[in-house]
Amino acid sequence: MVQLTALAATEPSAGSDILSMRTKAVRKGGKYVVNGQKCFITNGSVADFFVLFAYTDASKGPRGMSAFVVEKGFPGLVYGKNENKMGMRGSINSELFFEDMEVPAENLVGAEGEGFVNLMKTLAMSRLFCASQAVGIAQGALNQAIAYARQRVQFSKPIAALVPIQFMVADMAAGVESARLLTHKAACLFDEGDEKKAGTFAAMAKCTASDTAMRVTTDAVQIMGGYGYMKDYPVERMMRDAKLTQIYTGTNQIMRLVAGRDILMPY
Ligand SMILES: Cc1cc2nc3c(=O)[nH]c(=O)nc-3n(C[C@H](O)[C@H](O)[C@H](O)COP(=O)(O)OP(=O)(O)OC[C@H]3O[C@@H](n4cnc5c(N)ncnc54)[C@H](O)[C@@H]3O)c2cc1C
Repeated sequence: MVQLTALAATEPSAGSDILSMRTKAVRKGGKYVVNGQKCFITNGSVADFFVLFAYTDASKGPRGMSAFVVEKGFPGLVYGKNENKMGMRGSINSELFFEDMEVPAENLVGAEGEGFVNLMKTLAMSRLFCASQAVGIAQGALNQAIAYARQRVQFSKPIAALVPIQFMVADMAAGVESARLLTHKAACLFDEGDEKKAGTFAAMAKCTASDTAMRVTTDAVQIMGGYGYMKDYPVERMMRDAKLTQIYTGTNQIMRLVAGRDILMPY
């Protein structure tokens, strides 16, 4: 049986600044009572269960955040709207509301106060997935552009024979291969168990691959001219999908902050 899952951290006023989240979980006997809300949650309204991040003691800052497994149908779990997105339209992103939601105490993940550390570890790995996704989108757009350039004839020859098109394709291909190699490097570091370095490389791979995907998909549309702009071809969708990879699992500004801090201040 396929089970859908989700991770619920972001709130309307807590995105990059995730520590400013307001959702709270208060222990009452054998359960926690949760109040608050989340937004943009991938699979939110269709997930069979999801991991929810909330403060059990906000006065402790990062050490006061905890994680809980929330199952569909828990009393007090209320679904808001599903977002109408620019791209990635094959997935659902939802608002979630918790109105005195009851979570059994055994659904606490680990111990109270371990939520933030676990969230950071999960996000580091998510950035690797996001980088891989971006490499895939960029490669797909490059393939489309190459195939089109070979068969599109203007001025009595395929546009593939035009030097400006060749220059664009060369830059696109170099970008995709560079992003792929950096993503592989980050994946190898995770495999080797070098968590700290893997996190730094995942952040670098995520922003490099997603910026590459944005540039390559835009150039693919350009190479295909007016046809690239039409929904008859997949590159306009790839361009819209690529944009999200620069935003989610932490924006590229935050990725540069993470990588820069790790490189300059490793201890
Ligand atoms: C389609 C989609 C799916 C998502 N899925 C999930 C999910 O499943 N679970 C989940 O918990 N969240 C999810 N998110 C939330 C996502 O992780 C956040 O949108 C993202 O972290 C940015 O937060 P924000 O949108 O509040 O932007 P903000 O944090 O408000 O940022 C706005 C701008 O300010 C910049 N900025 C902010 N702080 C700094 C800083 N210190 N230095 C420099 N620049 C800064 C940002 O880079 C950005 O350009 C999803 C978002 C989208 C759009």
